[in-house]
Amino acid sequence: MTKQISVNSRSYRLPSVPTIIVCIDGSEQEYINQAIQAGKTPFLAELPTFGSVLTGDCVLPSFTNPNNLSIVTGAPPSVHGICGNFFYDQEAKQEVLMNDAKYLRAPTIFAELARAGQRVAVVTAKDKLRSLLGHQLKGIRFSAEHADQVTLEENGIENILERVGMPLPSVYSAELSEFVFAAGLSLLTKERPDVMYLSTTDYVQHKYAPGTPQANDFYAMMDGYFKRYHDAGAVLAITADHGMNAKTDSIGRPNIVFLQDLLDVKYGAQVARVLLPITDPYVKHHGSLGSYATIYLNDGDRLCDVTNFLKGIEGVETVLTRSEASERFELPKDRIGDLVLIGERLTVLGSTPDNHDLSGLTVPLRSHGGVSEQRVPLIFNRKVVDLDPARRLRNFDIIDIALNHLSQ
Ligand code: ZN
Ligand code: ZN
Repeated sequence: MTKQISVNSRSYRLPSVPTIIVCIDGSEQEYINQAIQAGKTPFLAELPTFGSVLTGDCVLPSFTNPNNLSIVTGAPPSVHGICGNFFYDQEAKQEVLMNDAKYLRAPTIFAELARAGQRVAVVTAKDKLRSLLGHQLKGIRFSAEHADQVTLEENGIENILERVGMPLPSVYSAELSEFVFAAGLSLLTKERPDVMYLSTTDYVQHKYAPGTPQANDFYAMMDGYFKRYHDAGAVLAITADHGMNAKTDSIGRPNIVFLQDLLDVKYGAQVARVLLPITDPYVKHHGSLGSYATIYLNDGDRLCDVTNFLKGIEGVETVLTRSEASERFELPKDRIGDLVLIGERLTVLGSTPDNHDLSGLTVPLRSHGGVSEQRVPLIFNRKVVDLDPARRLRNFDIIDIALNHLSQ
């Protein structure tokens, strides 16, 4: 009889060979397409002959934390509770950082696999994700960013910097993600975990469009590691937390709707509070600008009026009330504002010009957060079997497919 575990109302078979789940941060599908066309990724080019390439939807907002948490819990934000980097605590009257594991409302599949006796390893690029993803996990868990500080007690491993043989990478670099894959290979060779989760950063995708030499080189680097994992006999399942699009006009100027400014001019200050849940400690490459915003109103009577005003703003694609948004996007009602706004594909939603430092933007703005960045790849180095063709695939189905729906 196959052994299985149940997590967040879904069941997962225990893996029979090492299974590696990869989340390529910000991997708009066009990146892989272009890298294949340029001949830079021979493994991915060959993969359809023995594997499967599918497409699915990520969760909204199409940001890093909500989606990484969805992938590792197999559930939407309404279940796990993480719907951005920030929410507004209306009782405490302050913006609260949601990077702490205490805000997580569901167990991760990895923690449960470890409890079932599986050897689990989680490697992230940035350290902010490590504490959330490694929550209550008995296993190896560390970030490339803090690879120089790992201890057996905190991270389940030591001397990883020496083992990988790369210098500690900068948090704003392609090497930060490369370190994740190199560490993954070292773990696969030595500890041979039953399940491993590798999560990169979208530094490259924020800076470089699909098909550019820098983007192609980044995908070539990953392709080399994918081939080595494959050759080592691992099951490989690759997805993305969200896509990525240019957010500019035709000559590269950012298209920004400064919502707080517009609302203050129209209704006066203190009526509406704009919160941008993309805001995080690492803003250099996007200036805290994404295509998603949530708005808290101090005067509930103005809901209709404000909604209509926002719907009329060019670049705003969708305006939803709290209950509409929580239903359509499976969001936790208590951690979103009275309104949820989605920007059009080429537009980002900002607060006021003073709140966004664009000095770090050395190239035309590329970002995410909206419905336009929802389509992501689901790629496997085995054939997918027994999957209902009518099913709407999500990036958080990746572990289900990897453990339950691949040919042996
Ligand atoms: Zn991301
Ligand atoms: Zn990003």
